[in-house]
Amino acid sequence: MRWVLRLVETEADSLGRGVDVMVISRSRDLGDIANLGLTLPEGKQLLARVQQVMVTAQAHGHVVLRPNCLSCGGGCHIKDWRLHQVATLFGTVAVRLPRFRCASCGHSTTCISWPSHCRSTPGLDQLRAHLSALMPYRVAAGVLTHLLPVDAGTSPETLRGHTLKIGERLREAPAVKPATAASAITVTVDSTFIRSCQDGERHLEVRVGNVETSDGGRQVFGAVARTDTDIAALIRRSLETVGRTADTVSTAFTDGCPGLRSILAEAGVTKPPIADWFHIAMRLEHAKQAASGLSTDEPGRAQAKTAIVAEVERLHWRIWNGKARNAQLTLERIRKVMHVFKGERGHRTTGVPSRKLWHALHEVDNYLHSQSARLVNYAERYRAGLRVGTSVTEGTANFLVNRRMNKVQQMRWSRRGADLLLQVRCAVYNGALGSGFGHLFEPISTSGPPLATAA
Ligand SMILES: [Zn+2]
Repeated sequence: MRWVLRLVETEADSLGRGVDVMVISRSRDLGDIANLGLTLPEGKQLLARVQQVMVTAQAHGHVVLRPNCLSCGGGCHIKDWRLHQVATLFGTVAVRLPRFRCASCGHSTTCISWPSHCRSTPGLDQLRAHLSALMPYRVAAGVLTHLLPVDAGTSPETLRGHTLKIGERLREAPAVKPATAASAITVTVDSTFIRSCQDGERHLEVRVGNVETSDGGRQVFGAVARTDTDIAALIRRSLETVGRTADTVSTAFTDGCPGLRSILAEAGVTKPPIADWFHIAMRLEHAKQAASGLSTDEPGRAQAKTAIVAEVERLHWRIWNGKARNAQLTLERIRKVMHVFKGERGHRTTGVPSRKLWHALHEVDNYLHSQSARLVNYAERYRAGLRVGTSVTEGTANFLVNRRMNKVQQMRWSRRGADLLLQVRCAVYNGALGSGFGHLFEPISTSGPPLATAA
């Protein structure tokens, strides 16, 4: 079977002129499923040809516009023609457009408001940035050329250049304020590291976080430290985007990195941040696991283990109930009985349990010391229906940074490259890149994080 695909203009005065776009032929025998419908190359060719025919027709239409002069209002005539090569989602098109000149005053106009040196459409720019935000530049370039008749700017280097440009634009974008104000907002800031490709530094510090409202509004933000990106400005914009007003109560959670507090203050969150329960619970969990692994091969040890397991539970209860000061008592009691595990033999792969417990308790102790000013009565907050932290913090770092820039793939980053790509990734997750992607977040419930239930 053979078909001719014809594009027919349907405006009243066009007289139904048509342009043959493409001939498609296919066997009528459907015995082989591979014969069913268009192939990928045909689909790509079809899109590319329809695009060029459409653009040519649009260029013809543009000529007829004949604008009035911007300075004197007189009639314009065509001065000369310019050929533009523009990369689109469906192939690179050639567009011949006129420049006009005023008949009376000689003023020139192009009648197009394209950005200077415009070589691609916003649609293509956005898709390139979106794919690059989700996968390595090389893979993104492959996906793009595999599925679409995109034929220009598909090298990983070009894709990177375009993506970073979009990242720069996203960084400067103003907040889009919602119609309704938020009564309470939780802000979480955390830091993580990626590998640097620059000489003299091994890692780059990345600060990430999110803001959440009680009704499920959420925005993520992130920036690499010591770049042109102002993290405080990003936090301020995120707060405004979810509806912060002068009456909003903002509560901040951090993991204790000292620089984060001044950043929060700069963003207008002046109340001192609370130590995130999630980070404490994680450390306590390590101690509990180590305690439950202690050996009971001697009568004295069995007794000591029972006492230690109970003390670690008490430690958890004390911190959860805002009695972290008494945690020292618990730690002392554990230390006193630890000597019976001297010479304890470890498992070949998991190590010596008592040494692990010692290490885990040391971690808890250190954390309590460094965070003492920021510990609160978590139980009380929890009972009042307030957040005690957020288990999504680690998740935020994970999906914003690690999944694209992670350690596993041994990727190395430049400070600027990582920072601007991060702006694109945040925009993708916030649903702010282009239209039609929508918000990728599910509204989260207002109840406490899962780890709080362990308390
Ligand atoms: Zn004029």
